[in-house]
Amino acid sequence: MTYPPLKITFLGSGTSGGVPMIGCECEVCSSIDKKDKRLRSSILVQSARTTLVVDTGPDFRYQMLRQKVKHLDAVVFTHPHKDHLAGLDDVKAFNYHAKKPMNLYADSLTEEALRRDFYYAFTDTKYPGIPELTLNTITLEPFVVGDIPIVPVLVWHLKMPVMGYRFGQFTYITDANHIDESEKVKIRGSKVIVLNALRKQKHISHFTLEEAINMVQELKVPIGFFTHISHQLGLHSEIESELPENIHLAYDGLELKFD
Ligand SMILES: [Zn+2]
Ligand SMILES: [Zn+2]
Repeated sequence: MTYPPLKITFLGSGTSGGVPMIGCECEVCSSIDKKDKRLRSSILVQSARTTLVVDTGPDFRYQMLRQKVKHLDAVVFTHPHKDHLAGLDDVKAFNYHAKKPMNLYADSLTEEALRRDFYYAFTDTKYPGIPELTLNTITLEPFVVGDIPIVPVLVWHLKMPVMGYRFGQFTYITDANHIDESEKVKIRGSKVIVLNALRKQKHISHFTLEEAINMVQELKVPIGFFTHISHQLGLHSEIESELPENIHLAYDGLELKFD
């Protein structure tokens, strides 16, 4: 299979409340290090021909402005939690420029939430200024957006199924605390994996830092990056220095390239 060269950009690397968190004065939320400023988790995936975003959280509009994204072909969703959907209304700017609906890719659980949360975009009587959306329901079958082939990887967020995605050499997983053995097969052979690592203390539905490190090693993926980070994890620079050589914390604006 020929795979197009890809550029991945981290648009956000923070947990649901973002970093800093509103009203918090801890050392991470007060840090002046740019790498301690984390918008809600999302990545931009670009080939020469195709641009897609994984999730549209509450910071989607600002992420598009900050990254100067002028064209977007599709949104691919991981799961229906608000910190991954809330910004969808702002795709209307891309509707306006491209004069066509935005293609959304979501599993049936996420589709249900999209139809509920953005009901006004799915009614017959449309008023001006609402987003135009085309929903494509995905399963665990591989699919293609433009010239970018995508393999869904099912992971678990406590009891909620979440879609991870493999883009050739790169696998992106957010909001998981368990991966079935049968799905690990799909990840093995990746060059880089992204996993969520919320904090050091145990959490009911997210990998801890230690669990995420162990998962990278178990999957034998040579390079790991962590995302969906809470202010409770600690300062970027301090945690980064504690990590194994092949593992890093992601940060907003980080770019990875795959030939
Ligand atoms: Zn989340
Ligand atoms: Zn979630």
